[in-house]
Amino acid sequence: MEPVTYQKRALGFLSRILASGDLPGSLLFTGDPGLGKREAALAFAMAANCQTPAGGPYLFGEHGPCGACPSCKKIRAQSHPDVLVVERSGAHVRIVQVRALLETLAMRPHGSGTRVVILPEAQALNREAGNALLKVVEEPPERTLFILIAPEASRILPTLVSRSHEIRFFPVPEGDIARWIAENRPGTAPEAGRALAVLSRGSLVRARELAESNGLARRDFLARELAALARGGVRRAMMLADLVSRDKDQAARDLEWIALWLRDLLVRHYAPERIVNADLAAEVERQAGAAGPERLLPHLAAVADCERDLAKNVNPRMAFEALFLQLAGMKNG
Ligand SMILES: [Zn+2]
Repeated sequence: MEPVTYQKRALGFLSRILASGDLPGSLLFTGDPGLGKREAALAFAMAANCQTPAGGPYLFGEHGPCGACPSCKKIRAQSHPDVLVVERSGAHVRIVQVRALLETLAMRPHGSGTRVVILPEAQALNREAGNALLKVVEEPPERTLFILIAPEASRILPTLVSRSHEIRFFPVPEGDIARWIAENRPGTAPEAGRALAVLSRGSLVRARELAESNGLARRDFLARELAALARGGVRRAMMLADLVSRDKDQAARDLEWIALWLRDLLVRHYAPERIVNADLAAEVERQAGAAGPERLLPHLAAVADCERDLAKNVNPRMAFEALFLQLAGMKNG
């Protein structure tokens, strides 16, 4: 199943809008990355333009698009002239992009359906571009629907929010993600599936990425390295920092595993039944036995420092060196 199919509430709203036949001028999809917002926006555009009157069951029940007619196919391939997707260019969606959009919108739609403008990262609109867009959202051209997508409504212009009908996408419950992993990755042990589900933080896209990038093997490797750090001192800490910081995305995932692992070591002291890495319970117990809470709390603080440094674009190798030196007991607090 695609991630978006778990967004029952959002899909229910959208189905009712389609059933009413009365499309609003602007929709705002909010929620964390990886919940299927972009997919829902494209599917909604498909449903609003599907050439098969009976439609199909895709996402919106009887009001869903067929997925097979020329219009549906073009929209899926993002080559439909009346479905305009405005991606950001660099860090922002820029005023020149919005001006180009306005020129297109000044003309009539190509087809007889609904023209749909999708901004997959509306939070990236800079102020000038946002204000320019606001004017056209306030007075939309005929048969034109805007779909703005952002992590949170607070990240875009309040005036744009007030003109839009907000539809929230919620994190998928851990139980559903664990079930999805069990169904789609049959080789995964149930406890390991649960660890992946927790680390996915409600996103099936992340769960899939983690499963595909062999996330558990990496966790096992990191768990061994962290155990070895206490013995290996400075040199080992430096080598590990060098290894972990080579790839930015991998580094971010590694840091999450390390945080989850250290959390488990701490939790093991108070509520052992609540550790997440239950498939490695014996190793958690062994490492927790070697490090009491008074040592683990500064470790967790060092993880938070490392996270902050990475977000501020501090050299990743230096950020990890500081973390691993702390974990190796070479720093105080
Ligand atoms: Zn269709």
